[in-house]
Amino acid sequence: MGALRDFVADMLESHGAAIDPIEPDGLEVLVPETLRAVLGWPEFARLGFGAMAPSGAIPIGLEGDWLDRFGTLLGERGRMVERQLEPVENFAAPRDPDSLLDRAFDLPNAVWRLRDARPAWTRCLLLALRYTAISDEKREGLLWLGFNQGTGAAIDGALLNRLRAQLGDVTDWRAPDADTSRAAGPAWDAATVAARVERLVEHLVRRDLGSFLSATRRRLERDRGRVHEYHDDLRRTAQMKLAALGSARGEKADGERKRETLRIAAIEREYAAKLDDLRHNYAMRVNVDWMQGVTLFLPVMRYEVTIKRRKGERIVSIDWHPTVRMIEPPLCEWGIGVERPRLVCDDRLHLTDPGGQAPCPDCGKAWCRACHPAACPRCRAGAA
Ligand SMILES: [Zn+2]
Ligand SMILES: [Zn+2]
Repeated sequence: MGALRDFVADMLESHGAAIDPIEPDGLEVLVPETLRAVLGWPEFARLGFGAMAPSGAIPIGLEGDWLDRFGTLLGERGRMVERQLEPVENFAAPRDPDSLLDRAFDLPNAVWRLRDARPAWTRCLLLALRYTAISDEKREGLLWLGFNQGTGAAIDGALLNRLRAQLGDVTDWRAPDADTSRAAGPAWDAATVAARVERLVEHLVRRDLGSFLSATRRRLERDRGRVHEYHDDLRRTAQMKLAALGSARGEKADGERKRETLRIAAIEREYAAKLDDLRHNYAMRVNVDWMQGVTLFLPVMRYEVTIKRRKGERIVSIDWHPTVRMIEPPLCEWGIGVERPRLVCDDRLHLTDPGGQAPCPDCGKAWCRACHPAACPRCRAGAA
């Protein structure tokens, strides 16, 4: 409970409370009036954070509504924060940048050449999103994604995890100074961030929910199988009775024939209704909410790389992060860019996922979705 106690202590202090830790797992608090109403505590409160809490303490834990009440206190504060990491003193830059870049770049239709390398500051935006998936069961999760706004790269996977771990390890919080902020270049506008997040988030949520989705699909298949088996049996019995009547004539036989025919129709209707119920029960609704954003000002080793395709040339930047000793993936101007390969377009040398240069499904002409996001420039068929 140490982390929760530290968090509550920090938050109460920032709201003007006087606190005094008592061991084990407790806090004594002089609660200012503004907090008393929100938290429902007396002026002198003794709080307990674990099984060994001091006697007479108000038990505080992750269960109950304590987190909601603390959330009310925090309000919107801390939703967007800025933080600067210290430059790494005398870090050893990669000795062989060409082989480092060779692992980062996979350009099947272009070549690259290292042009320049220099230490720089960059600006990375890390975002925490919470998703809630509800079908017959519910699953919640938190996911992080990030972008290097200096190079345009998406930051995901091991690099993101290491950067976040690094943040947790450095307890000293430093706000960015004006020089660093300027050196790191401008922040993206809200529309650019929204467009980039939108591109990535569905992929990341689907990836996170992979086992939940397949378990749900299995339950749906199982129930569908049961429903089918049950109604199939009923229908087969009715059909056999109908067949047994054969071409028998007479009022009784006609009556039975009619009854079995109606029964079969009723069984089919019920089967369709049951399938509808299942579809409804297992339909998956996913909500994603933005929780927190951290703009990190990071020292990097910036490589400028010339990309060549046919007669065209273009310079892109890619950063190596000395704090975690990793290179980021190259930017991706269409698609999610979580795989390595990038195709380069003829006109403006955009780097895209391979699908971003695919042939048009209607007229067959290959076209760049970064140049023409809305539709095929030849036949105007919608972009896939
Ligand atoms: Zn293009
Ligand atoms: Zn076309």
